[in-house]
Amino acid sequence: MAVDDRTMNSGAEVERDGRSASELFGSGKGLTYDDFIVLPGYIDFQASEVDLETNVTRNIKIKRPIVSSPMDTVTEWKMAAYLALLGGIGIIHYNNTVDAQAEHVRKVKRFENGFIVDPVVLSPRNTVHDVDTIKLNHGFSGIPITEDGTLNSKLVGIVTNRDIDFEKDRTKPLSEVMTTNLITAREGVTLHEANQILKQSKRGKLPVVDDQFRLVALLSRTDLLKNKDFPYASKSEDKQLLVGAAVSTRPEDRERVEALAAAGVDVLLIDSAQGYSAFQIEMLRFIKEHFPEIDVIAGNVVTMEQSRALIEAGADSLRIGMGPGSICITQTMMAVGRPQASAVYHTANYARRHSVPVIADGGIQGIGHIAKALSVGAGAVMAGYLLAGTAESPGDYFYENGMRVKRYRGMASVEAMNAGGGKRYLNEDNKVLVPQGVSGTVLDRGSLADYVPYLMKGLQQSFQDMGHQSVTSLREALYSGNLRFEHRTAAAQAEGTVHSLHSYSPPRFGNIRVDSF
Ligand code: GDP
Ligand code: 5GP
Repeated sequence: MAVDDRTMNSGAEVERDGRSASELFGSGKGLTYDDFIVLPGYIDFQASEVDLETNVTRNIKIKRPIVSSPMDTVTEWKMAAYLALLGGIGIIHYNNTVDAQAEHVRKVKRFENGFIVDPVVLSPRNTVHDVDTIKLNHGFSGIPITEDGTLNSKLVGIVTNRDIDFEKDRTKPLSEVMTTNLITAREGVTLHEANQILKQSKRGKLPVVDDQFRLVALLSRTDLLKNKDFPYASKSEDKQLLVGAAVSTRPEDRERVEALAAAGVDVLLIDSAQGYSAFQIEMLRFIKEHFPEIDVIAGNVVTMEQSRALIEAGADSLRIGMGPGSICITQTMMAVGRPQASAVYHTANYARRHSVPVIADGGIQGIGHIAKALSVGAGAVMAGYLLAGTAESPGDYFYENGMRVKRYRGMASVEAMNAGGGKRYLNEDNKVLVPQGVSGTVLDRGSLADYVPYLMKGLQQSFQDMGHQSVTSLREALYSGNLRFEHRTAAAQAEGTVHSLHSYSPPRFGNIRVDSF
């Protein structure tokens, strides 16, 4: 119920607290998420009833407003597949060859939940110690053994914990410890049939092989027990998971666009740090002319003028942000950018008149920031940092100062640019590299399967506090002026977090502190 209705029904006129978004952002000050707070609304529903469905592009709706960044330490096929299962969508990075990127897209499109299609494989010549290393880095030790230690090579055995737990000599080759009495399933088996075989065999793993006994996939008994129901999965009409992929503005990437389209990509993202360029507009027009059925996310932009140009050139969604990313040093190095909440508010307010959603990209540190991005008009958030430490992001875990971490790097860090990532920054050559990002580490966040539901439950509770049962309702209140905001001073921000205690145990999700924003 809108505040106005209630005051009218009760017959009493109440002065409005706070400010509307247009008043807050009309002050001319550049604001970001921590600079403001949303005033509470009226609750007449349960948090679980909050509908988070949203348009991420003009034509694509997803049930969870979260998109993973096209970064080489964030989104490859595994992130994209699992995020889509959980209701979001992943954008595969392009710091790779055209073939490699297209293969990531195909893997998501072919993905069948329950089958491990890229199991870690070893050869009979590997040692028990190699299994220990895999256990340390990945957390599992059930390893299929093939002739040459790769997938699609002949299956010759399997090593599980029980084969090696009492083995004193960790240098022993796996050929001497592996189990060769194998129970397998043939390629084409359904998940249901495979699960039946697993149950009856009482084994921990079921390798799936082709007609020449080459390994093609693996099933794990522990997965049988996990909840396999994904009611929010982002799927196309033909029941395949949705996936996006990034391309640069360079003319040679037209070939990339064609390969990604052939692989079945659902949405293309033109990845440019400053998207208001002739190069971007040319690429956008090329895609819309040749692949009109594929929605395009254009960007990055932060102003209405930039948004207008890209919408006129055919953008189906805008990616907003210049400088807020956790790994980003653009605002310092280039003196250009915009505080993120102002950027999102102004661009969203412009783009909605053309039915184009905007994605708030970068600077999202937790649930509160997702809620604030949506409260100022974003259709969804794009996250790098937030998703980089999950089991589904590329790269292995390792230990740093006793903490389990993964590497996370900006695409304009020297490391990523040396690996080809500078395309986003219109680098003309690689002789002199001026970094706009850093490379670092992030703490282990565990599996997306636990983490995304946690984020989304928190977001539903935030919507409940704001008094809105859906993204649509929140949007209406934002633009009618019924959603009320207040600017936060530095003292108010300090008051709004834990203070004055001698000591306390910070609330955590796994290893991650969740109390600071
Ligand atoms: P293990 O018995 O030590 O292999 O470990 P569990 O079977 O208890 O857990 C393995 C978990 O890791 C399951 O949820 C698997 O789906 C998952 N997993 C992901 N990739 C792989 C892989 O390449 N090999 C194995 N064995 N498990 C994987
Ligand atoms: P995060 O979620 O980590 O705060 O921000 C991720 C976003 O930062 C990405 O989606 C992208 O827009 C931006 N980004 C990625 N790499 C770099 C970089 O090296 N420099 C800058 N300026 N921004 C980056």
